[in-house]
Amino acid sequence: MRTTRYAAAAVAALAALTLSACGGGDSAESEGGDAGGETVRIGIKFDQPGLGYDEGGSYSGFDVDVAKYVAGELGYTEKQIKFVEAPSANRENLLSNNQVDMIFATYSITDTRKETVDFAGPYFVAGQDLLVPTDSDITGPEDLEGKNLCSVTGSTSAQKIKDQYPGVQLVEQPGYAECVTAMGGGQIDAVTTDDIILAGLAAQEANAGKFKVVGNTFSEENYGVGLPKGSDKCEDINAAITKMIDDGAWEEAITKNTEGADYTYNAELNPPTPAPCA
Ligand code: GLU
Repeated sequence: MRTTRYAAAAVAALAALTLSACGGGDSAESEGGDAGGETVRIGIKFDQPGLGYDEGGSYSGFDVDVAKYVAGELGYTEKQIKFVEAPSANRENLLSNNQVDMIFATYSITDTRKETVDFAGPYFVAGQDLLVPTDSDITGPEDLEGKNLCSVTGSTSAQKIKDQYPGVQLVEQPGYAECVTAMGGGQIDAVTTDDIILAGLAAQEANAGKFKVVGNTFSEENYGVGLPKGSDKCEDINAAITKMIDDGAWEEAITKNTEGADYTYNAELNPPTPAPCA
C-alpha cells in the first residue's frame, strides 16, 4: 500500500517535471507581446458561478473572461496566466504581499481599499441585494431586524450591514456559497452581496427553485481591477477594458456568463467608463 502510494507520487512528480520542462510559461510564445516569458498571477474567486469559478482546474466566469482579455492586451498568452484564489478577505493582502499581480474578483473600488491598493476600471457595476428562500416575504434590508443574515468577511456587503443595519444578526462566512448552504439548512434567513453573485448561486443546479433574488438593490458596486499600490499598469488595463467594451467582447462575455441565471445588468450603469488612473 505504502510503496504503491510512494510510487504513484514519484510518477506524478516526474510527470510534473516533464510537463514544466516542455510546456512551461517560459518558452517565448507570446507572439510579439511585451510580456516575454513570464507568467502573470491573477486573483479570482473560485466559488462564484458565472463570475469566477473553479471547475476542477478550469476556470470560468465573467471576471475570468475580462481577466483573459486584459492579460491578452498586456501581451500574455492564456498559458501564461496563473489563476490564484482570492477570497474577499485576502485581496488586499495578496496584492500587498506580492502574491498576485492583478485581481479580478468582484472587487469593489472603495476609498478604504484605495489606501492600500490601486484600482483600474471599473469594468462592471453591480448592486447589493438579498437572496432569500422562495417563500420568504423579506423584500429589503429593513425587513431583516432580528433575522439571521449571512455575508462574507472582508466584503463591502458585510460592512454595509454593520454600518447601516446594526439590528441585524450578521453571520460571516469565508464565501457566499457557504452562506447559501447555511440558508438551505434553515439557519439563515437571507444572504447579502452583489445581485450578480446571488443570481449565479441561485441558478446552480443544486439550488434550483429554492431561492430568489429580492431585486431591490441598495448600493452601487464598481468592480475594479485590483493592483499593487504604485502599479504602472492602470492606464494599459483601462485601455484594454475600453477596447473590450468597444469591440463587443464585453457584451458577449456578460451574456454568456449570466445565461440561465435570472439576471439582467443595470443598463444605465453598464458598461461603465473606466475612471482616470490615480
Ligand atoms: N463587491 C463586493 C466586495 O468587493 C462584494 C463581493 C465580494 O465579496 O467579492 O466586497
